[in-house]
Amino acid sequence: MLIVHCPVCGIEGDETDFHCGGQAHIARPATSDPANITDTEQRDYLFMRFNPKGLHFERWRCDRGCGKWFHAARDTASLEFKAFYGITELPPADVMKQASGQWAAFFKQATASKPAGKKTATKKTPAKKTAARKAASAKAKKS
Ligand SMILES: [Zn+2]
Repeated sequence: MLIVHCPVCGIEGDETDFHCGGQAHIARPATSDPANITDTEQRDYLFMRFNPKGLHFERWRCDRGCGKWFHAARDTASLEFKAFYGITELPPADVMKQASGQWAAFFKQATASKPAGKKTATKKTPAKKTAARKAASAKAKKS
């Protein structure tokens, strides 16, 4: 049994209370430049997925709680979860450093091209995270 923790509402339950939505961090090519999508980009978006033995990053949905999607870092060999973080966030820096292969290359590119305002997940309680989001939102409105 996998014990999953929702970083949005804070509930914890086994995997039957949640729904795994496959690989995390898949960018839809039509979002950035819909007029210039190649067949290869569309094929990769629809069908090509990482399948590592070891640390993997997945989307999960909190079915019996808040209903929100979030990300989880999980070791596919030991099934141990390493982190849970928001759907718009990158994993905590220490977890990203443990990634290897395709994931290491992905995070290297993602952090290199990361806009200044985009944040990395930190290990906070859900209440503190909500307060941090409100503070970040208020800060963004001022500038
Ligand atoms: Zn939830």
